[in-house]
Amino acid sequence: MAYIQPKLDLVRRSASSGAEPALSRETEVAKLIDISKCIGCKACQVACMEWNELRQEPEENVGVYDNPHDLNPNTWTLMRYTEYENTAEDRLEWLIRKDGCMHCTDPGCLKACPSPGAIVQYSNGIVDFISEACIGCGYCVKGCPFNIPRISKADHKAYKCTLCSDRVAEGMGPACAKACPTKAITFGSKDDMIALANERVEDLKERGYARAGLYDPPGVNGTHVMYVLHHADKPSLYAGLPDAPRISPLVETWKGVTKYAGMLAMGAAAVVGIGHYLMAGPNEVSEHDEAEARKLKEGRDA
Ligand code: SF4
Ligand code: SF4
Ligand code: SF4
Repeated sequence: MAYIQPKLDLVRRSASSGAEPALSRETEVAKLIDISKCIGCKACQVACMEWNELRQEPEENVGVYDNPHDLNPNTWTLMRYTEYENTAEDRLEWLIRKDGCMHCTDPGCLKACPSPGAIVQYSNGIVDFISEACIGCGYCVKGCPFNIPRISKADHKAYKCTLCSDRVAEGMGPACAKACPTKAITFGSKDDMIALANERVEDLKERGYARAGLYDPPGVNGTHVMYVLHHADKPSLYAGLPDAPRISPLVETWKGVTKYAGMLAMGAAAVVGIGHYLMAGPNEVSEHDEAEARKLKEGRDA
């Protein structure tokens, strides 16, 4: 599904050494989701499916508003509803969070992916999956600290929100932001979105939410999808949003070990080759071997 932007715009590519030289750097973008403005109408979820031509089979009602029950290859964004009993303030609160890819500045999915070019990051910060290069191994799922990618049983490819990279490439905002009736979702440059978030946080603080704040987690060097939270001191209240997301040390170790093991193996092969050359000299074909090869060839041609 991913729209392949010009290669010059890439800054990172999975299973490829070093950063790609992005000759035409775009401004860093971000989507700001202000949870205090969300009314849970799901227009964003529907708009995502419409724009990306996704269709999800209806699921059974199990007594929660989340529908479907989880992200899946056909649901790239999902509204998650939490009923929170705020005992300190003696009130019941609905915490409704739009779940989906966070477009991490340091994306664990991309770091874990072993297939060259299956996951890319553009200079504007968007992290995209390139279906043609995906081998369906599922390492991106393990590498993601937000539990986002889903592997399709139909085509064995990984799927997630693209931040509407196709629309953004044409100067439009994401479909979900366009559809939101309360402007709970806004899209623009990352700097502008941080400035807007700070205004919203000040407003929430004046209205009694002393712990309101911006969610832009430093453990992944920030994200290109950010939240304004009323309870920024407890992100996990919002349907398990990670309090301090980080790429698993296993992914970092695995990448480091495989990289250095590969270099060691290549080095060892070179040493053995040179040693063999010095001890035994170059490989030579004897007269006898050449005569046998000629006989075989004549037999085949006869
Ligand atoms: S949220 Fe997960 S899938 Fe999205 S960019 Fe970050 S690591 Fe990758
Ligand atoms: S940015 Fe686009 S792909 Fe991502 S959730 Fe919004 S509509 Fe869906
Ligand atoms: S469209 Fe806006 S208000 Fe409606 S559920 Fe999505 S984020 Fe909330």
